[in-house]
Amino acid sequence: KLGNESAKAELGRATWKFLHTMTLRFPDEPSASDREALLSFFHLFSRLYPCGECAEHFQQLLRDLPPQTSSRLAAAGWLCAAHNRVNARLGKAEFPCDKLDETYDCGCGAPKKTSKV
Ligand code: FAD
Repeated sequence: KLGNESAKAELGRATWKFLHTMTLRFPDEPSASDREALLSFFHLFSRLYPCGECAEHFQQLLRDLPPQTSSRLAAAGWLCAAHNRVNARLGKAEFPCDKLDETYDCGCGAPKKTSKV
């Protein structure tokens, strides 16, 4: 456990940014292997996240709200809802999930044609 609230918050902000950017680049039409990779990623992530208290909460959240992997829209929408559950538990405002695409830019250049979140 990091015994420091501002370090925990900074780690959280960096991590959420990475996670949202990752799901927003997930394929519109993922292969079975893509879907398995994303599901495995979130389960491994929830074991290895370096804030123990956060990891425990996130493991429970994965049981209550299983990761959606059928498409980019499904994955990004699921993660937004999951982050909003964490926000609610911490007394933070709900984020509007229709603003995902305009909030996260991976800096990867022009993406292939994708559906709108
Ligand atoms: P953050 O919640 O870090 O969000 C960063 C930015 O992301 C926001 O400013 C906003 O622009 C955007 N955003 C907010 N909500 C959403 C959303 N739903 N979808 C997309 N974008 C959004 N901290 C604890 O104290 N206890 C915990 O148990 C805990 N568990 C955590 C579990 C995980 C998996 C992670 C990644 C972090 C956890 N944290 C926990 C840290 C906590 O969620 C915040 O990251 C931290 O408190 C900093 O909050 P913040 O207000 O800067 O915004």
